Amino acid sequence: MQPFVPSRRGLMLVLSSPSGAGKTTISRKLLERDADLAMSVSVTTRAKRPGEVQGRDYHFIDLQRFEAMRARRELLEWAKVFGNYYGTPRQAVEQALSKGRDVLFDIDWQGTQQLEESARDDLVSVFVLPPSTAELERRLKTRAQDSADVVAERMAKAADEMTHYEAYDYIIVNRDLEESTAAVEAILRAERHRRHRQIGLNEFVKGLREGQ
Ligand code: 5GP
Repeated sequence: MQPFVPSRRGLMLVLSSPSGAGKTTISRKLLERDADLAMSVSVTTRAKRPGEVQGRDYHFIDLQRFEAMRARRELLEWAKVFGNYYGTPRQAVEQALSKGRDVLFDIDWQGTQQLEESARDDLVSVFVLPPSTAELERRLKTRAQDSADVVAERMAKAADEMTHYEAYDYIIVNRDLEESTAAVEAILRAERHRRHRQIGLNEFVKGLREGQ
């Protein structure tokens, strides 16, 4: 009998959270440890922060280019966040999924809602919450890139963003980065085994029943 060669369609793993809850660090750790996971690099009209790299953290583009991509339906989803536009380029995601790779998205609740409407079967959504308001504020303040004004604005927005947790499949309270990363890895491992993602199961089971 031929051994069962697992083949599956890739899944879309969305991580959302208010700024400062630890989502970016969790994403980085996941990508380091899992070669089957690819990051979706968004386009954005916001200015590049110190340390960010064009094409790695974002594709930094101007508003005109963003509008053109949106008009040509090249974005899988898009949203306006903190006055800037963000969007997910469609082509890279579809290529990765069709090769059976999983794609990690760092997008907000508005984008997640759009993916939910267009690709529910491929979507696994995780919302990361901070352990407390005080800890969230501490993390935002120690993140040196942003000015005091931006920190204040993001604290105000965080309360609002957190109300959207109910739309997500999984919730992680990020008390400890290692534990939270391990939790997302466990979710990913389990979701990869979902029946509807596995291709060729019918044939395989038929073969098993026929004693091949
Ligand atoms: P930041 O400017 O701090 O990198 O990101 C601000 C917010 O925009 C974060 O909540 C992040 O998840 C969200 N974001 C980043 N890229 C995208 C995107 O392509 N689509 C959507 N909907 N949100 C995004």
